[in-house]
Amino acid sequence: MSGSRCHYYFQKHNSHHDCRNCVISLQVGVNWSASRKANGDYICNGCASERARENKEHRKASLFERQGLMCAICERTSKDRAAFHLDHCHRSGKHRGVLCSGCNQTLGLMMDNPAWLRRAAEYLEQVD
Ligand SMILES: [Zn+2]
Ligand SMILES: [Zn+2]
Repeated sequence: MSGSRCHYYFQKHNSHHDCRNCVISLQVGVNWSASRKANGDYICNGCASERARENKEHRKASLFERQGLMCAICERTSKDRAAFHLDHCHRSGKHRGVLCSGCNQTLGLMMDNPAWLRRAAEYLEQVD
């Protein structure tokens, strides 16, 4: 190995990297994405999705805790945490809250449209 080349040069031009989490050898297009390589993020696709899943679980648990362990809309509760879903805005991707299956499905069926949901409430409250 050439002693004239500094550590930085070696880092920059050495195309071989290992996942810093599971130490698997990283190959773009196989277990590592080009965007991750460009960002210098030395983590394999498997570890990245596992990390995302863990983050999501953590986010769901802390939001659910803040909501008092009940659905953000109907306030129904259940010991079965799997019956609750981390709801997110389909446009921004932001997490909105934790909902029971019923409310989560209702929002989906009503296409996340607040006007329709308000009209549905008015419809139910109308007196004949
Ligand atoms: Zn990995
Ligand atoms: Zn609910």
